[in-house]
Amino acid sequence: MIHKKIAMEHDKTIALVAHDNKKRDLVEWAKFNRELLAHHKIYATGTTGEILEKELGYKIAKLNSGPLGGDQQIGAMIASGVIDFLIFFWDPLEPQPHDPDVKALLRMAVVWNIPIACNRSSADFIISSPLMDGDYDRLVPDYEAYRSRRIAGVE
Ligand code: PGA
Repeated sequence: MIHKKIAMEHDKTIALVAHDNKKRDLVEWAKFNRELLAHHKIYATGTTGEILEKELGYKIAKLNSGPLGGDQQIGAMIASGVIDFLIFFWDPLEPQPHDPDVKALLRMAVVWNIPIACNRSSADFIISSPLMDGDYDRLVPDYEAYRSRRIAGVE
């Protein structure tokens, strides 16, 4: 498959999302990395964003609460190339009312090949990667062949 290169700037746009039982984890991680995160643009789902804003003491762009469409908003931002990477601490032990949205968000991250961290250790590795500080060309499959595919019964 042919790939296209999408340049990731030095200052990244990061989406932060945590389910309720994982919010404490995300807050601790974000506080530990407060200075590093400060020079990136942060988006978060509603409740996660409110808590982070209080704990970090700086402004965060807040979307809708996850179950009210926030996950889908982030998914749309990934599809339109706004979000560079996703830190998404989802809860593996609790069913979520918006489970299809959770799956859709994770799927968008894979479709567009953005880095995702779903737990603290992955988030630690991502944030401390030497790639964070440089320019990086993200390879995204060229979906043109998919867009121009033949549909049975349609000219
Ligand atoms: P919340 O949403 O930050 O508004 O709680 C998180 C989620 O469940 O996606």
